[in-house]
Amino acid sequence: MTYDIAVLKGDGIGPEVMDEALKVLNALGTPSLAFAEYPCGAGCYLEQGDPLPEATVEGCGRADAVLLGAMGLPHVRWSDGTEMRPQVDLRIKLDLYAGVRPIYLYAAAHTPLKGLEAGDIDFVILRENVEGLFASMNGGIQLRGEVAVDSMVITRSGTERVVRYAFELARQRGRTPMKVTCVDKANVFRSMAFFRSVYDEVAAEYPDVERDYAYIDALSMYLVQQPAGYDVLVAENMYGDIISDLAAGLVGGLGLAPSGDIGEEAAVFQPSHGTAPDIAGQGKANPVAMILSAALMLRWLGQRHGDLEAASGADRIEEAVSAVIGEQGAGTPDLGGGLNCRELGERIVQAL
Ligand code: NAD
Repeated sequence: MTYDIAVLKGDGIGPEVMDEALKVLNALGTPSLAFAEYPCGAGCYLEQGDPLPEATVEGCGRADAVLLGAMGLPHVRWSDGTEMRPQVDLRIKLDLYAGVRPIYLYAAAHTPLKGLEAGDIDFVILRENVEGLFASMNGGIQLRGEVAVDSMVITRSGTERVVRYAFELARQRGRTPMKVTCVDKANVFRSMAFFRSVYDEVAAEYPDVERDYAYIDALSMYLVQQPAGYDVLVAENMYGDIISDLAAGLVGGLGLAPSGDIGEEAAVFQPSHGTAPDIAGQGKANPVAMILSAALMLRWLGQRHGDLEAASGADRIEEAVSAVIGEQGAGTPDLGGGLNCRELGERIVQAL
């Protein structure tokens, strides 16, 4: 079987890191993948007047999976002052409700924390991807240039499905103990108390998985003080967005943080980072987050289609990354290393 993969390189460092991920996927040999590239991003808006052309959305909908680099440029904005964010619009159009963000420490040297070894940080953030505070996106209220309001929207069905995804993921990971932490602000907001009550309803179906609760403010401290204590965390969209970056900082930064945006019918795999305009075009971008996102794609394809070759491709990529940035200690400047983006990609290909 050949999988059709839609490729959205995007802006800034997006094309640079994507090129390395495509090299790694091609070097694997199996599974067979056919890539089709589609325009998307702030640059696409400047060229075509639309950051997310309909043909791109249709191509993504038809594909077996989507690989996305990064999108948006700070100087390209709508008239209301917000940026182009086609990557977020795509999540909503394809209903990619589960934002899966694995956080893994590949080398002690990557963390600013003391006394940790490779593997000591190993958890997954489940970010609800299509509602929460982002539900106001493209809407919200602006009155007389004086008042602006965005609303937190929590639905029962939206919360149920992402919490269920979190519990299923904890079972798949099979850690001892299996645990899902509900991240909220249920002490203050009705929307968050509701989120927690739906979490409790779903948790009752998983008596083998430990329940855990943390307010978002306290969790920000716990993640720094005791990151080894977490397995799977589930959070509303904006909270998930923020703790994803904090958590990435614990294991070496955004250049090492992959993600999958997953729905019932489609999935998009992309690094957690943005377009990094400060380093774009200089060869300094770390391609590992993009390469690990490609591995997540293979794992998802493997599960969806019962395809052991795809699943083993994911394992092989992760082992190659671990060998290069872990055991060999190689890296781009963000990891304190001397390789450029292409050289690090080539090392990973060699390790494969
Ligand atoms: P950013 O993630 O682009 O950069 C934050 C910092 O991390 C910068 O110092 C950058 O150099 C560094 N960094 C990011 N990725 C890196 C990599 N692979 N290797 C080495 N260093 C890396 O976030 P930002 O600066 O807040 O946003 C820049 C642009 O990206 C904005 O236009 C924003 O809207 C957009 N954005 C897009 C996405 C996405 O496409 N999913 C996500 C976040 C931000």
